Amino acid sequence: MMRILLATDGSPHALRAAAFVARLAKETRGVDLLLVNVGHVPAVALGGPGAGAMVDFGVLEEGLERAGREILDSTARELTGVDAEITTEYRRGDPAGQILEAASAKNVDLVVMGCRGLGQLGGLILGSVSERVLHGAHTPVLIVR
Ligand code: ATP
Ligand code: MG
Repeated sequence: MMRILLATDGSPHALRAAAFVARLAKETRGVDLLLVNVGHVPAVALGGPGAGAMVDFGVLEEGLERAGREILDSTARELTGVDAEITTEYRRGDPAGQILEAASAKNVDLVVMGCRGLGQLGGLILGSVSERVLHGAHTPVLIVR
């Protein structure tokens, strides 16, 4: 069975990537699917004078993890009835680096992701996470528009 990693940040593009994986699963009669979300503490929360006093990292990371697991669960629910053996994995750290690490650790055949995510910058063809995964991957990468 083909082993696929689907990276999701819960964005509309990531949902479309999930829908495409559902179709792939149907046409190939089943896939092994690893759903990955990465909780990322933005640099703006880490730097600057007084930042440490204003942000409780424990609370911040707990919130990120809860939100990330929620995204993983709802994506898995979207894939109910699809011919896929689904596992979910929450990771923390740099999103692209963690997605690449998960892809190697689980020996996946294919990484699927959206071309854009939750970032606010319009006009770009590719978000920074998909660009960096594409750059560093040792497997085929499918980027869904
Ligand atoms: P940027 O983050 O550079 O401001 P963006 O948010 O529009 O831009 P990306 O973050 O590169 O674009 O998102 C592209 C795809 O990467 C998403 O559709 C999703 O598949 C994946 N992705 C992005 N962030 C994460 C994350 N934290 N965890 C898992 N997958 C992610
Ligand atoms: Mg993003």
